[in-house]
Amino acid sequence: MGCSSGKLVPEPPKGGVHAEYVKTVFPNDNYITKFNEVPNKGEYSSPYSQEGEGGQGGRRKKPAKYRTRIDPRVLAKYDIKALIGRGSFSRVVRVEHRISRQPFAIKMIERRPGAATIAETELHVLRRVRHTNIIQLMEVFESDDKIYMVMELATGGELFDRIVAKGSFTERDATRVLQMVLDGVKYLHNLGITHRDLKPENLLYYHPGNDSKIMITDFGLAFARRAGDDLMMRTTCGTPEYIAPEILCRRPYSCAVDMWAIGVITYILLSGTMPFDDENRTRLYRAIIKAKYTYTGEHWKDVSALSKDFIDHLLIIDPQERMTSAQALKHPWITTNAASSSMKNLHRTISQNLLQRASSRANSTKSARSTRSTKSTKSNRSLRSDHRRVQAYELEKLNLEG
Ligand code: ADP
Ligand code: MG
Repeated sequence: MGCSSGKLVPEPPKGGVHAEYVKTVFPNDNYITKFNEVPNKGEYSSPYSQEGEGGQGGRRKKPAKYRTRIDPRVLAKYDIKALIGRGSFSRVVRVEHRISRQPFAIKMIERRPGAATIAETELHVLRRVRHTNIIQLMEVFESDDKIYMVMELATGGELFDRIVAKGSFTERDATRVLQMVLDGVKYLHNLGITHRDLKPENLLYYHPGNDSKIMITDFGLAFARRAGDDLMMRTTCGTPEYIAPEILCRRPYSCAVDMWAIGVITYILLSGTMPFDDENRTRLYRAIIKAKYTYTGEHWKDVSALSKDFIDHLLIIDPQERMTSAQALKHPWITTNAASSSMKNLHRTISQNLLQRASSRANSTKSARSTRSTKSTKSNRSLRSDHRRVQAYELEKLNLEG
């Protein structure tokens, strides 16, 4: 994933309230062994007979692959309900605690080269944080082949799925979302943590209701600075469409890269299109390093000048000039909650653009699985960019200044 080498992994905090609260269970943990030997009678059901892709009216089907290899200690405590997310190295399942019946999400990361570093990074960061707009880590299980992160379950879906599904969308809604994201990001930046992979797939709604809060997730590429560390980061990583120019130019960079990504997210929120969008990576990266984006097209007609001003203060080449999270929270577009902005219903155009991309992303997943082609065509490009992270080697050959 382009980010596995040279990364400084932060130490978990000493004596932090949350660090004490998140327990790691290792294979030789006595408590778990005991628990495992005596599964609660009547409560333990085999993973072969649960809902989801599995059972149907008593007809026994082959269990989904992800279920067959889950550590028995995890199965003893949690009832696996369904697969809800899938990454290059990870699977996310919805589970229910067998005793309390409380729902959770478990992210399972394989201990493969590359993936282990990502899991460790994510754990170190999640152990440090406690904020209403950041997914909470509850418990960790470690086995020889996988790491299981038990987390709060967000049931409202990803940011973009929600926009497509909503009946109406206004700038007011966009500012509400951004306020929550900025609150979470400000908290992270104050702790010396840079997310480095902010994008709509990693912003989840807590519940399906209209008033749901939004939560930042996926800290696999995050960086947490330790006392005495250099203020700047150097590792080339991120997702192509959201990556900041200074990373592409291989300059040392700061947490301002997250603010660039928030600029990209805002642009998408308001138009359903990407500010930098090219099937050719070289051209895409060239557009990014020149901050070459426009507000042309139908979807920008009814969008306020204030919101464009907000974007323009984030999609700035010089990171020093870019708004910080604190400044962005004070931008008039956010503070006035778009009261003076266009309240026109943007839903139709946004949904259409997103749906177009959503359908091409379905094709993309299929074709990527069957052909494993590295070539990207217009039809298989998509808004969901989870599996298209920037690779350092791509940049070595690029003449970006050209
Ligand atoms: P990856 O590193 O593979 O991108 P993520 O942590 O982003 O892994 O998880 C992949 C997907 O799984 C997310 O985009 C989201 O749809 C789903 N997901 C992850 N964590 C949760 C959670 N706590 N609650 C609900 N869904 C989640
Ligand atoms: Mg993700």
